[in-house]
Amino acid sequence: MPFSFSLSARDPHSRARRGRFITAHGAVETPTFMPVGTRATVTGMTLADLAELKAQIILGNAYHLLLRPGPDFLRAKGGIHGFMNWKGPVLTDSGGFQIFSLPNSRKLTEEGARFKSYVDQSYQMLSPERSIEVQTAIGSDIMMVLDVCLDSTSPPDAIKAAMEQTHRWALRSLKARTNPEQALFAIVQGGLEENLRRLSAGFLTQHPFDGFAIGGLAVGDTRAERCAIMELVDDLLPIDKPRYLMGVGTPSDLLEAIGRGVDMFDCVIPTTLAWQGTAFTSTGRVRVTRGEYKLSDDPLDANCACPTCTSHSRGYLGHLIRCKEPLGPRLLSFHNLHHYMELMRRAREAIELGRYAAFAKETLEQLDRHEHADGPPPGRPSKRFVAAP
Ligand SMILES: [Zn+2]
Repeated sequence: MPFSFSLSARDPHSRARRGRFITAHGAVETPTFMPVGTRATVTGMTLADLAELKAQIILGNAYHLLLRPGPDFLRAKGGIHGFMNWKGPVLTDSGGFQIFSLPNSRKLTEEGARFKSYVDQSYQMLSPERSIEVQTAIGSDIMMVLDVCLDSTSPPDAIKAAMEQTHRWALRSLKARTNPEQALFAIVQGGLEENLRRLSAGFLTQHPFDGFAIGGLAVGDTRAERCAIMELVDDLLPIDKPRYLMGVGTPSDLLEAIGRGVDMFDCVIPTTLAWQGTAFTSTGRVRVTRGEYKLSDDPLDANCACPTCTSHSRGYLGHLIRCKEPLGPRLLSFHNLHHYMELMRRAREAIELGRYAAFAKETLEQLDRHEHADGPPPGRPSKRFVAAP
């Protein structure tokens, strides 16, 4: 079944959209958060956990799966679905972000990026065509084009060159696609430069991509800068294609992005922070290892119905994390993902009721009472954009 997307409601007081996309492995209601399953596993979560979490779609990564277990192996096992026995939709990232996170061990040319494998030290070439070949072997429902990722605060000339190369690679990716059932999303680049974002969206939307990602954010920018770019890009992208904000972010980030027209998210934060003992709750972040919780019989989040919160105390969870017992990160990961899924469910419901703007405001206020605002890191240049109200 070819990929399709439809909108069913729009919030009258924000840019929030309620939609659904259909893939060969099922439908996904949007806005949606996609748990990250980089190496064909959402770290610590079983298939039963993912079912209980009502995860609609998970993420895989072409870079990690190329290196291990490898595309030939995956092809023989029926792709990622056959290998991990996950029946639902999968989106794969192209590996661009991982390649460009290793600036000293890769060489970038027009052809692609040459890098050294962290598994066996062999040299590998990841080109747009190779990335599509790997994502085809993985059998994901949505593939991403290989893009050139730069820190959004890089010099404008470098951002422009990276964007232009991303465009050339996007067309090569489109040409390399062999399975029409696998959707292909392009990635709008251009850093924090308004004119470059306009050029990038204008170029990419002339070609038959199934959806568009907003790339190059959450790598050195502030929340206000991100919000300004999202609003700009929202105006530039076609309304009948899904928009995906890559690698972002905290519950507050998600609420702000949904209000600016974003439909899809992924982020490692809920699981990464769980492994460090931090939970996202209805009243902000809780670090269970803090001394004040040592004797606490309180649940992690009194407003959460997940098994972690209904069965265990903050004191017990803190003990597990301090003792490095594997159950600790697992219980916190489950809760954090449950928190994200529940947030998305409530956001979808609020959009249907035409009250997303009020819902987001109430929820953000509750979180902000406990969390610090995301200000610019010290020494950063002044903001180019001012956040909309
Ligand atoms: Zn919970």
